[in-house]
Amino acid sequence: MSKPRLDGKVAIVTGGASGIGEAMARLFAASGATVVIADIQDALGEAVAASIGPPCTYTRCDVTDEAQVEATVAAAVAAHGRLDVMLSNAGVLLLTGSVTDMDLSALDRVMAVNFRGAAACVKHAARAMVSAGTRGAIVCTGSVACVQGGYGPASYTASKHALLGLVRAAAGELGRHGVRVNLVSPGGVATPLSMAVAGMGAQEIEASTEAHSVLRGKVLRAADVAEAALFLASDQAGFVSGHNLIVDGATTAVNPAVMRSVGL
Ligand code: NAD
Repeated sequence: MSKPRLDGKVAIVTGGASGIGEAMARLFAASGATVVIADIQDALGEAVAASIGPPCTYTRCDVTDEAQVEATVAAAVAAHGRLDVMLSNAGVLLLTGSVTDMDLSALDRVMAVNFRGAAACVKHAARAMVSAGTRGAIVCTGSVACVQGGYGPASYTASKHALLGLVRAAAGELGRHGVRVNLVSPGGVATPLSMAVAGMGAQEIEASTEAHSVLRGKVLRAADVAEAALFLASDQAGFVSGHNLIVDGATTAVNPAVMRSVGL
């Protein structure tokens, strides 16, 4: 199979200034797409867009503000004539405490970005695609926390489970318009988000994820997640919708403690 290409397509990447989103922006641009990086880290976003080069641009967009999401989609369509891909990737992980003493205002902030922000991105991208008759692709960045507890605080797990529900519901409704909606769900990746939360550097994060990894001999990097998102966004995934593409080397597919107990 040839490598997926996005020539002539226009993509918005939320959270594209850093980490996994930055890797997506770089790979999508290298694959032929016109990329709009949408983030709240202006200096970083501008620098990433400049390093990718034209026609990649940066725009400030706080996904918790629906009006900014709507304006970002409208500006992309006005500037480039169409919107083919929405990568709803912006996310936060806040240390909201255990469920018995959960900080509910912090829970609201996590939900506002990871779930409500993604809902705004799905809504306005889908509107633009449907009204233009574009057979577009929406890819949300989920997490292994979409399908299992224990990868982060309950607030993060709940926000990602809710996102999975949103994607499935949206795939159902938008299928009649030819718009596909999927998730790419990584395991642990060394990014500013995970490094800040764990208080570790990239090497320490990678050593720790490797220690509980099922698939050996490879460390998951942001670029691997971007490759999976590229497939979902491309025409090569033309009949893939409502899918959660988990990129975790089988970590959520098996229970290592049970495997050990049965001698496997
Ligand atoms: P990151 O912190 O490097 O990047 C997240 C980006 O989102 C940042 O540039 C940040 O400025 C932006 N952002 C945050 N709030 C925003 C808002 N309100 N509006 C617009 N942009 C906003 O983190 P990352 O690890 O690359 O995370 C990207 C996505 O991947 C998130 O959805 C995260 O939940 C998910 N994820 C990360 C990991 C991991 O181990 N790093 C694992 C699974 C899933």
